Amino acid sequence: MLTGNHCDTLYTADYVLTQNASRDIIRYGAVAVSGNSILSVGHSDMLSIMYPDARKVDLGCAVILPGLINGHTHVPMSLLRGFSDDKALMDWLTQDIFPQEAKLTPELVELGAMFSMAEMLRTGTTAFYDMYMLERSVFRAADKMGMRAVLGESVTQFFPSLSCRDADAYFDLVREQAMEWINHPRIRQAVVPHAPYTTTPELLQRCYRTAEETGALFGMHLAETQAETETCLKTFGKRPIAYCHDLGLLSPISTFFHVVDTQQQEAELLASTQCAVVHNPASNMKLASGVSPIDTMHRAGVSVGLGTDGPASNNAQNMVREMYMASMLQKVHQLSPTACPAQMALDMATRGGAAALHDPYIGSLEPGMRADFIALSLTPPNMQPVHNVVSNIVYAATGAENRLTVVDGRELYRDGRFLSCDYEALRSEIQQAVTWATKS
Ligand SMILES: [Zn+2]
Repeated sequence: MLTGNHCDTLYTADYVLTQNASRDIIRYGAVAVSGNSILSVGHSDMLSIMYPDARKVDLGCAVILPGLINGHTHVPMSLLRGFSDDKALMDWLTQDIFPQEAKLTPELVELGAMFSMAEMLRTGTTAFYDMYMLERSVFRAADKMGMRAVLGESVTQFFPSLSCRDADAYFDLVREQAMEWINHPRIRQAVVPHAPYTTTPELLQRCYRTAEETGALFGMHLAETQAETETCLKTFGKRPIAYCHDLGLLSPISTFFHVVDTQQQEAELLASTQCAVVHNPASNMKLASGVSPIDTMHRAGVSVGLGTDGPASNNAQNMVREMYMASMLQKVHQLSPTACPAQMALDMATRGGAAALHDPYIGSLEPGMRADFIALSLTPPNMQPVHNVVSNIVYAATGAENRLTVVDGRELYRDGRFLSCDYEALRSEIQQAVTWATKS
């Protein structure tokens, strides 16, 4: 425990769930915050004596836990929530989603991104990994909203894109953004090709090299469906993960999203190359992509995070709901009630998310970590009684129990109020803006 430093605010609650290596849960606990970091975590009576001058926030009948981490999403797509559902993937994309996306503007992207961030802050998410088009607007939105984020302009082999006339312009944009955001305390860039089936091998290798050169991360949708595997086998004679390995894309800066159609030795390859994986259960169910073998990956030693995917294929940006679905999906798929227990789902949404964002300072509440945490109320009927607080969070909570979201030491949401945006103005703007979306 660190001592002798100034504590700005002492947050106390009936439970503090640390998610540290031994998963300590502190009854009547406290989190002491200094600047953007956690100074100490312990019993509230002891920390109150240690820091008598700190501002005190007593959350009472609540549980403080690390902020949830959304490992994969496309935040601007809140503009298309509910616009088109229940269609076959290629019909959904080509008939409804792509024609709308072709009409996007930087202003619309920024608005959609802010709206998703409001939803995440309200439901207890503090950090996310995003890829989309016109991503420069998402950088701006994340900066304004105060969230922690890894952000990347998605790229395919098809030019011109909304942002770039050709591949050279794309890599110029990546380098420009690297300079612009290099020292930001919460925002980091990723180079994010869309998927193996929308890119060339040369483009993928150039993306990876540019990520290394600019100190960015590397991310991509991978092995999402059996159809992707078949296309990859037909075009390159290899399954998607082996194809990426042979191109040199599997490394400790890499995060792969979905990773559904995956075999044992592929999981071992991902583990030995220290890649992170993000599981997206709701999106995989809604688009009928399949079930990711997260047990196999865990056993192989892969770090697995959890993500919502975009609001058009989920349709929520709510990580509390995602934890529940992750657990339920594995149980019914494996026909085993012991599959993906509550603690595993919570680990994926916190520690696994930190690995997916390659950020060693988030995912648990410990001295020296960033002050990114949330507090769920335990007073609603669905949260009582408390036999097992982790069980209540994963199996009974809805996300609406969240009372407080703190990112980098700053309160961004508290008891129904958004502290980094005017939510009513945002809501009225998005109501007007969605007239841009029209079905032909
Ligand atoms: Zn996605």
